[in-house]
Amino acid sequence: MYSTAQQNQLIKDAKAFIQHSTSVDSLTAINILKEIINFADWTYYVNDNPIFADAEYDALFKLLKDTEQKYPEWITIDSPTQRIAKGLTEDFKTVSHLVPMLSLENSYDAADLQDWDRKCKELSGLPTIEYCVEPKYDGAGISLIYEKDILERGSTRGDIVQGDDITTNTKQIRSIPLGAKLSRFNIQQIEIRGEVMLTKKAFRQYNEKLIAENLSPLANPRNAASGSLRIKNASEVAKRGLDAFLYHISNISIDPQKPFPTEFQTHFGSLKALESLGFKTPLSTIRVHATIEEVIQTCMEYEANRDQMPYEIDGMVIKVNDIALQDVLGQTSHHPRWAIAYKFKARQGSSKLLQIEYQVGRTGSVTPVAKIEPVYIDGVTISSISLFNEEVIREKNLKIGDTILVERAGDVIPYIVKSFPELRTGAENEIVFPTKCPVCGEGLYKPESEAVWRCTHINCEAQRIERIIHFASKDAMDIRGLGDALVRKLYEKKWIHGIADIYKLPFEQLKGMEGWGEKSMTNLKEAIEKSKTQPLHRILFGLGIRYVGETTAKALARSIAHINDLFSTSIDALKNIEDVGEKVAVSIQEFFSHQDTKLLLEQLQDAGVCLQNTQKNEVVAGALLGKTFFIYRYFTNEAKRCRSNGRTKRRKITQWRQ
Ligand SMILES: [Zn+2]
Repeated sequence: MYSTAQQNQLIKDAKAFIQHSTSVDSLTAINILKEIINFADWTYYVNDNPIFADAEYDALFKLLKDTEQKYPEWITIDSPTQRIAKGLTEDFKTVSHLVPMLSLENSYDAADLQDWDRKCKELSGLPTIEYCVEPKYDGAGISLIYEKDILERGSTRGDIVQGDDITTNTKQIRSIPLGAKLSRFNIQQIEIRGEVMLTKKAFRQYNEKLIAENLSPLANPRNAASGSLRIKNASEVAKRGLDAFLYHISNISIDPQKPFPTEFQTHFGSLKALESLGFKTPLSTIRVHATIEEVIQTCMEYEANRDQMPYEIDGMVIKVNDIALQDVLGQTSHHPRWAIAYKFKARQGSSKLLQIEYQVGRTGSVTPVAKIEPVYIDGVTISSISLFNEEVIREKNLKIGDTILVERAGDVIPYIVKSFPELRTGAENEIVFPTKCPVCGEGLYKPESEAVWRCTHINCEAQRIERIIHFASKDAMDIRGLGDALVRKLYEKKWIHGIADIYKLPFEQLKGMEGWGEKSMTNLKEAIEKSKTQPLHRILFGLGIRYVGETTAKALARSIAHINDLFSTSIDALKNIEDVGEKVAVSIQEFFSHQDTKLLLEQLQDAGVCLQNTQKNEVVAGALLGKTFFIYRYFTNEAKRCRSNGRTKRRKITQWRQ
């Protein structure tokens, strides 16, 4: 995409802008500035290897925005600033796809695939056919139309012929280029299909945020992606961390004066060409095979390793690589004959709801947990499923004794898909949510706007224990070995009462504890010692301040030099921090107004825990230098000058639903 020399030049230009420019006063300069920001977006969102520090990126972006404000005539539709959404989207218009989106035929085993291979050979009369095998993403389908190198329209899959116009929301997905030099391949107009999704990580973080705000989490990344695409507030879409893979060209119009680009004669070649223009494609995960046996082998391999993928995949898609051959094979009224989906085994099972237990979390939240008849799904036995809050129980219409359908998708936590009221015998019992804390007996409280009931007793034992567990957890201070069971045991023995006691453990006395060897003790000692130098954001997250999840903790840490700064930070100053709204700011200030907090931080400091911000924004420019990249000519306004009014040569490729 970018040659080493180009990258070097862009980095050099960027530094000059950051150091010397307070404003930009020429069209050439603003074009270079746009190129730099497009390059930075590409390194971050497409290549997954950021080169600029956040602060540097922000400075460049601000410079562009300020310049455009001064010279509005220089704003182009593909300027990075045009991703920023203003106001709410009107109702989504219905738009027609250039080519109908057919669905794919499914296959479930090797025999199905061999059958399909035989049919392809019979129809084409060829002895061998080359196939591409690629992951089948579990997200929401989209269609993008680029005209004269500019993204003109984004739409949802909808039904076969029509979808919703979601252009504004599409622009919030940073891995989708607003412009690309398609004219380099003589392309005047192109319709590209792909899948919008959330990585498993982004999904987890998003749910974490919902839970922190006492809202019900989403069941799976697929629902999260399709729901996000149809939000009417585009700036909200931008916050969801959506990503997109583009995997198919459904329609292409070539400049009639010029030849058809040879790159687009095969499926693999066309994706490679798209990637060279800055699009994110599944190229690196695609395998090209000459026999169906190899195809089957690849499908099995991916199925066995699906949990290692950063995205949810629910199968594989096999396509005939040669596009001319695709045309020969054609389609039925339902699906193309030249492609087939291989579906992975379903990760669902039926079970019985035995009873509900109620767990009290570190913030006093009372979470109902379903205890179910153990069910074995894809290598894991599931016997307990969180139901999050009372609403979920109502929504799913659950009763004790119900037959239920359970799904487990990758490392997404298992969930109850539905109950079967039609199978009830009359012996089932209503679920009655408790009115008192199951641990301390205090009455439960729930504000109108929230979904979660809460124990507000400050010294509730359950909360104290959970706070210690949270502090030591992997995403917080990462004290290996100090897990749930050990914390409870230490609490029971009265060796630990609060977070600070972690650093005062009487190891001599611990020696005699049951199932407690010399080795585990040394390891724990080391892990506790190591935690003293954890970065500040981990401590902030570990303290368990309400509404402060990992992301907010990071933003908060970036804005201060020492944790004690937060004792004197005003609500307004807090609200200036990225990710911090009124509710979060109030919660942070309240937390730091407590005498207990002051005491705790003093104790941690005395124990030698580092409460200073030792992480500075570091410039990592140069990390990519020396690697080989495709040669790429910069995207510039030149694209707009390449207009042609001639009749277009149009070649239709059947689209399918993946
Ligand atoms: Zn309680």
